[in-house]
Amino acid sequence: MRTGGIYNNMKKVNVLIVGGGPAGISAAIWCKRLNLSHIMIEKEETLGGQLDQIHNKIIDYPGIIQGNGKEIKELFISHMQQLNCNYLCGFQLKSVDVDNRRAILYSNNISKSIEFDYIVISTGASPRTLGVDGELQMIRRGELYSASKHHHLFADKKVVVVGGGDRALEGAIILANSGADVTLIHRSNIFRAREEYVLPALEHPNIDMILDSQVTEIIGEGHVGGVMVKPFKGEAYYMETNAIFIRIGIKPNSEPFSNTIDINEKGYINVDEFGKTSRNNIYAVGDVCTEPIYSSISLAVGQGMKVAKHLSLQYQH
Ligand SMILES: Cc1cc2nc3c(=O)[nH]c(=O)nc-3n(C[C@H](O)[C@H](O)[C@H](O)COP(=O)(O)OP(=O)(O)OC[C@H]3O[C@@H](n4cnc5c(N)ncnc54)[C@H](O)[C@@H]3O)c2cc1C
Repeated sequence: MRTGGIYNNMKKVNVLIVGGGPAGISAAIWCKRLNLSHIMIEKEETLGGQLDQIHNKIIDYPGIIQGNGKEIKELFISHMQQLNCNYLCGFQLKSVDVDNRRAILYSNNISKSIEFDYIVISTGASPRTLGVDGELQMIRRGELYSASKHHHLFADKKVVVVGGGDRALEGAIILANSGADVTLIHRSNIFRAREEYVLPALEHPNIDMILDSQVTEIIGEGHVGGVMVKPFKGEAYYMETNAIFIRIGIKPNSEPFSNTIDINEKGYINVDEFGKTSRNNIYAVGDVCTEPIYSSISLAVGQGMKVAKHLSLQYQH
């Protein structure tokens, strides 16, 4: 468990931040700057959230050009540590009593009770899964690849990419350009991806398209060996593959709060311009309340700043 700051002594905080990605890190930094006592909890053993999944160069965050997300993550964490922000990794919320402003945090075998004035939810978003047999086993085996980072592993190999958006088609093109034999499986015959990806993918000699079809099972002992494909009109069949890249969008991590605050039909937490949810003392920032078209490191850290500034005003009356 990684920790920072003076968490052990804390029985009450102004702000309890749930989620240690860019939005939560920014909220913690701004809480520190504005003299709000705070603790940030992160369910994983390390901070950074989706930054770990960014294998491409980051060129769109002002003042910082980095080779990948891990590099920017290290800068963010170092910044937090230099300011002595308070955080606990490996912790989640077990329960929250919103009216009495008390939360129970838990780790493997440790529970902690903490009082708070405000909760800031910054739990971000995660890739959607297919929910088919064999998928969980594949994830547990660690067979999750990034097209931009791992494309060289699949030269001359068969790979399946599932999805019809930007990430699916861009991934298929990267893999195909590296010499992989790519089959793109999409449940529709209309692509959500931008034209700049659709045409090159359709014309690429290494990409086959199977449309109006779904992957219904991932098969393999010890590693992925094939998938079952079910066309909407037709019988399911087996297709050999060395890997499957599931690129069917992302889902906001709002589930733990769905009984407490208002969440829209797509799962995003409804917030006002300051990040306030349907409960007065619960706020949300970052990808958990932001549609993918706007999700970015810049917006997440901006929202983290705004919520902290807004909360600091509540102590000035
Ligand atoms: C492949 C890829 C490439 C990208 N490229 C770029 C780019 O080039 N430029 C750019 O600006 N953006 C990019 N993004 C988007 C950017 O990473 C996100 O917009 C940003 O990370 C959102 O920050 P966040 O803090 O809201 O959420 P996240 O980064 O998702 O962090 C949320 C954190 O909350 C934790 N958490 C979740 N549930 C709980 C819980 N119950 N209790 C405690 N902790 C919890 C998670 O473990 C995670 O650490 C990319 C994203 C991906 C996946």
